[in-house]
Amino acid sequence: MGGFLRTRSFIAICISPVKEFLFPPLCFSCNNRLADTESRVCHTCWQSIEKIHPDDHTVHVMRERFLEDGSIDEFYSCYYFQEGGVFQKLVHSLKYDAITIFGIELGKHIGAMMKAQTDVCAIDALVPVPLYKLKQRERGYNQSEALCQGIAQVLHRPVALSLVKRLKNTVSQTHLSAEERNQNVGDAFEVSPLNRHLVQGKTLLIVDDVITTGSTIQSVTRALKSSGAAKVIAASAAIAKLDSK
Ligand SMILES: [Zn+2]
Repeated sequence: MGGFLRTRSFIAICISPVKEFLFPPLCFSCNNRLADTESRVCHTCWQSIEKIHPDDHTVHVMRERFLEDGSIDEFYSCYYFQEGGVFQKLVHSLKYDAITIFGIELGKHIGAMMKAQTDVCAIDALVPVPLYKLKQRERGYNQSEALCQGIAQVLHRPVALSLVKRLKNTVSQTHLSAEERNQNVGDAFEVSPLNRHLVQGKTLLIVDDVITTGSTIQSVTRALKSSGAAKVIAASAAIAKLDSK
């Protein structure tokens, strides 16, 4: 086994420069050639995505909403998602097989941001927002799982897959009112009795790709809290920017 692995990595070391000569690594978004220090997406493209500042109006509104609801204890997000914006274009322009790789990169950004803002040692496990079983089979991947993989590489916390189950495939929420959204995802998630001991008394970090109203992540949180979770922290790669008055 060890010998096999050594042989494989030896071959990889010999092949990799040839591969990079024939197929130089390009930015997934703008197709420019990547520098040695860049991975998947170039520095310029990352820089063009509007970053969130913890004191921003949108963050305040979301935190207040979550505090009122009494479920989510802390909330963190990295970038602004705008219809037709760079972040959306970046996600849509990615090829099917590249989306997980991009998700992991994005997850590393979330991990670094959290490390700078909170005590990450207190987190017991990362929980991706699950997709409905059939939807995941159809799509072949869950973007939130890829984000968790990236966060785990930075924070060194375990990822708890299939801790929470999505019981129904919720319809697209874009055209629903806040109340309709809550009804739509209200009881969509469940922690199976077999997994309850993994949740009880724990501090969990729920991860989603894009948060618009927060109703989905609130629903996952309710399922975790009703199963005995001590603290739930929510993180997303992006949030929809709210108009500041
Ligand atoms: Zn680029």
